[in-house]
Amino acid sequence: MRVLVVEDEVSLAETIRAGLQGEGFAVDVVHTGIDGLWAATEKPYGVYDVIVLDIMLPGMSGYEVCRHLRKRGVWTPVLVLTAKDGEYDEADALDLGADDYLIKPFSFVVLVARLRALIRRGAPRRPAVLTAGDLALDPARRRVTRAGEEVPVTPREFALLEFLMRNRGDVVSKTAIIESVWDAYFDGDPNIVEVYIGYLRKKIDQPYGKAAIETVRGAGYRIAADGG
Ligand code: CA
Repeated sequence: MRVLVVEDEVSLAETIRAGLQGEGFAVDVVHTGIDGLWAATEKPYGVYDVIVLDIMLPGMSGYEVCRHLRKRGVWTPVLVLTAKDGEYDEADALDLGADDYLIKPFSFVVLVARLRALIRRGAPRRPAVLTAGDLALDPARRRVTRAGEEVPVTPREFALLEFLMRNRGDVVSKTAIIESVWDAYFDGDPNIVEVYIGYLRKKIDQPYGKAAIETVRGAGYRIAADGG
């Protein structure tokens, strides 16, 4: 069982190393987010069974490390270490793609138990590609394809299409879209949704002679389950 520990507090990192080695783990320790990202991605995949990742790291935060790992398709289980008074909390940790978290100071026995549980569970399956007919959206690779061709979209267009596709076949209201894709405190012009629906249609529908995104008058929008 090989563990990567990314922790900038050297004495804590060494304590974790010694403790985990005592439990029979093979342990690599790095002290920065950059080194952690390198170790977890540049070595052959599968070399680590689990990663212990501190959130508050100099340079690249654990938050960024985790986001980059998942974006690059590395699904090694990650347990993050957060500080109660830190910039991020446990909810952020799970949002950013971590599998579990511990709040410092933590009990070593609990750390070992959680790591063993994560290893037993194995690497999480990457999120499934969402499809509607020949329209496909890959949340892990942040890629949209239509009839097998990659369609470049902006992050906001991607978020809007992902929300529609997660609800494919159902009507979603403009309010629900704004709350999910913009945020609940958005106080701009709600017609922004129509504008972005227009951008998406120009990219994923019109060039292909399709009409995946339906306007449901007075109710909202729907992605046709068959892709239009
Ligand atoms: Ca730290």
